Amino acid sequence: MSDCIFCKIAGGEIPTDFVYRDEDVVVFRDVAPQAPTHLLVIPRCHVASSAEVKDSAVWGALMGAAVKVALSLGLEKDGYRMVINTGEGSGQTVPHLHIHLLSGRNFGWPPG
Ligand code: 5GP
Repeated sequence: MSDCIFCKIAGGEIPTDFVYRDEDVVVFRDVAPQAPTHLLVIPRCHVASSAEVKDSAVWGALMGAAVKVALSLGLEKDGYRMVINTGEGSGQTVPHLHIHLLSGRNFGWPPG
């Protein structure tokens, strides 16, 4: 999608230091980190939100990449949290599906 910031990042139009890349997924650091480690795991294809996923293979690719990156960084030692905001009421601000992968501090429950 031409005006989607995450499509531009995934497509290389915006120079980005990727933490991980494969043919379906890219992972990069959040510009406004909410934890010492705060990564965004996104599909290369444009999907506006979790509610818009038509192909379940997208979930396998995204979750597989997220856990692979988490383990490669040793995040399971202190724990990590994955968050998917869906829709304005949840706090979603970028309309391109993404998993927040957060680690490096203690997280409260329930989330705010
Ligand atoms: P949401 O609020 O939609 O769940 O999460 C969007 C996230 O994308 C936010 O945490 C925000 O800081 C991050 N973000 C927005 N624009 C950019 C950008 O241009 N580059 C990066 N790396 N992160 C961004």
